[in-house]
Order: sequence, then C-alpha cells, then structure tokens
Amino acid sequence: MNILLLGAGGREHALAWKLAQSRYIAADGGTLYAAPGNPGIAECATLVELDVADHDAVVAWCEGHRVDFVVVGPEAPLVDGLADTLRGAGIAVFGPSKAAAQLEGSKGFTKDLCERAGIPTAGYVRTTSLEQAKTALDRFEAPYVLKADGLAAGKGVVIAATQDDANEALEDMFSGAFGAAGTEVVLEEFMEGEEASFFVLTDGATIVPFGSAQDHKRVGEGDTGPNTGGMGAYSPAPVLSASLRGEAIERIIAPTVRQMAEEGMPYSGVLYAGLMLTPQGPKLVEYNCRFGDPECQVLMMRLESDLGEYLYASATSGLAALRPPKFSRETAMTVVMAAQGYPGTPAKDGSIAGIDAAEAGGAKVFHAGTALRDGQLVASGGRVLNVTASGSSVAEAQRKAYAAVDALDFPSGFCRRDIGWREIEREGS
Ligand code: ATP
Repeated sequence: MNILLLGAGGREHALAWKLAQSRYIAADGGTLYAAPGNPGIAECATLVELDVADHDAVVAWCEGHRVDFVVVGPEAPLVDGLADTLRGAGIAVFGPSKAAAQLEGSKGFTKDLCERAGIPTAGYVRTTSLEQAKTALDRFEAPYVLKADGLAAGKGVVIAATQDDANEALEDMFSGAFGAAGTEVVLEEFMEGEEASFFVLTDGATIVPFGSAQDHKRVGEGDTGPNTGGMGAYSPAPVLSASLRGEAIERIIAPTVRQMAEEGMPYSGVLYAGLMLTPQGPKLVEYNCRFGDPECQVLMMRLESDLGEYLYASATSGLAALRPPKFSRETAMTVVMAAQGYPGTPAKDGSIAGIDAAEAGGAKVFHAGTALRDGQLVASGGRVLNVTASGSSVAEAQRKAYAAVDALDFPSGFCRRDIGWREIEREGS
C-alpha cells in the first residue's frame, strides 16, 4: 500500500517511524510519502512538496502516485475539510471529516454537544457579544476561564485571577487579537484537579483505547512561565488508572462517539480527550482531533502493534476486527529541545550534532523543527528535537532521556530538566 503522511513536526516523525515499520510498507512493498516532512522524516519516508490547502491538488497527486491511504497529522487540514475531499475521491483517510473535526475546531460546538449528551464538563456560557460576556462573568467565580471559540494554536485560553483581568482579556479577545477564532467566546467554570491526556482510535462505532500521557505546557521548570506547544511528556500516565480510563470511556468518549454518529457527523480517527481528574471523576477539558505533539512521540515509542493496521482500520470501519493494540509496559518519556527564545522568537539556524551519540543508548531523537543547510543539520523552528527514551519507571525513563539530551551537541537549544517531576515525586513517596 502507498501511504501519504501529512505534516512536518515531531508528531509526524514519530508516526512516520512507526508507519515505515508497518507491514503495509515494509512487507507489501508500499511506499511511505510525507508532505512536507522534515530531515528526520526523510530517513523513513520519501518527501514531497504539496500545498495541503489545495485539496484538489492533493487528490490529483494521490491519484498520480497510487496512494491508497492518507494519514493527516495536524488539525488544520482536518478542520478545513481535507478528509472530506479525499474520501469523496475514494481515498481512505485517517482523520475526521470537517463536520466531526468541529470537536476541536469549535469549543462552543463541543460544549453544546456535551450538554446534549450529558457529558461531564465545566459549566459554560457561549457568546458573540462583549457586553454579554462581561455580564456573564457575574455567574462565575474566580478564577475565570475564557476561551476564544476557534483554533488559536493553544493561545486562545486565558485564566484570569480577578474580574478586572477577565474584563481586560475579554476586550482583547473581542478586539480581534485572535482573528476569526475570537469572534465567539466561551466562558467556563474553573475545574480543580490534575490533567491527563487520553487517546482512543475510533471508526465511528468501535472505540479502541490507544494510550494515556501527561504533558508539560509551561516553558519553565516547576510548570512556570508562558505556555508552549508542550515541553515534554510521558506515557502511560499512572494517574489515569484503569478504573478512571473506564469511567472516561463510559461517561465521556462513548457518549461523544454515539452522539456524533446520531447527529450525522460520525467521528473517525484519533480522539484525544484532555481530561481534568476532579474529585467528582474525570471531566472533559477539551477534545483534539489528532494526536498530541509531543504525546504522540511517547505513544509511538511504546506501541508494539502495527500502527498502519490500526490507522487504516480506523479509516475503513475495521476496528472491531482487530485485537486490542499492544503497548510496552515501560514508561516512555520525551524531552523537547527548543531553540533559545521559544516560545517567543526562537533563535534560527543553530547547528545540531550528536544525534547518533544520543541514540546510542536506545533513545530515539525525533525531529520537530530542523532543516538541512549545506549538509548541516540546523534548528528551523521553536521546538526542534524530541529526545525520547523508555525505562521501567518514570525516573528511569527520565534518566535515559536526559543522558541522551546530554549527548547532543546543540548549543543554541534548551530544555526543561524536570519532565515527569510530578510522577517521580509520587514514585519516590
Ligand atoms: P491546547 O493547547 O491544550 O490545545 P486549547 O487552546 O485547545 O489548548 P484548552 O485545552 O481548552 O485550550 O485549555 C488550555 C488549558 O487551560 C487546559 O489544558 C487547562 O490547563 C486549562 N483549562 C481549560 N479549561 C479549564 C477549566 N474549565 N478549568 C480549569 N482549567 C482549564
């Protein structure tokens, strides 16, 4: 089978690494293509230039290269309806339709769906008016949770300590600071608890658990400083026990999949639930319609089954016929190496060496924002490398991951040195 993977980050490098090992590619003589990919992905796939915003051009390219299956890494092409166009042309796609991708693309859509299906989540108000939003604040208590409705690359959420701060943030949101994403705002009740990420694959009917993880959003150690796309993650998340996973499926994920199908928007692909583990049980914080980045890297490090089979089954109503996927019992950890300046303006073109040395002890270095300039590997983005290792505990995975980090020669890079701290404290107690 020929497979086209769309995307260019560490998540896609991890997916490409596992897809290249799939029997569809390794045994069937298929080709794995990636667009646009990156220098790490180039080691396991053939890179192609494609304008993913031009859906017809993607279809034509797939037809010209006998591509049977497209795996979409990031959310934007899904929210934009690329999967619909490909399916319309008879090409299997891993990822939801435009209608189903609203679960990530519109926070208001998801809150309303939760209400219709009785799914536990924070109480909320949706509004398109600044005045109404300010008045609605009276119905909530501090801290105030304010969200721009649409995709805002993780920057559309403000948690304000006081009503004055909340009023100011609302003015910002309605002034166009978030573009189209901010023309509607969702106000939410603040939920107390620890957060964890839970992943399932679904084909619209069958639900297959696909691992748990915890990430680290803040740039600074001890979870301080500005938010980022994610500075590191580990999997599994022991805090998401088997009984909490069961509860999350029964009360949150299964009702969502059922409701979407009943409303004529069957969801297929990976459903990534951001959960808050509250004293009343797990509650939904948000859905994403793609794998997390960097959570995907740790899931792929642990996955022992054939990724291609599961993704293809999710795309073709075939999950019920597969056995549950196998994941290593070890913990995988990924540490994000970012370029100095991130999450502000990152230093560009810093040279990178030592990847072989970093991988010598069994770690895997996924490329997130790298480029080749005159044969030299350099940083080309904010998050640059994802240094990923496994161990029998979070502490051991952490030791191995930082040993690999220390073997790298990336002078203009930095990382947090405390990924996994919360769990390591628990392991030590
Ligand atoms: P992400 O970058 O995680 O995709 P996003 O912009 O889609 O972010 P959310 O996940 O909805 O937004 O919110 C971002 C973060 O804000 C959450 O991970 C959580 O820490 C916090 N948060 C969101 N909603 C609530 C809530 N109701 N109560 C407490 N914290 C919340």
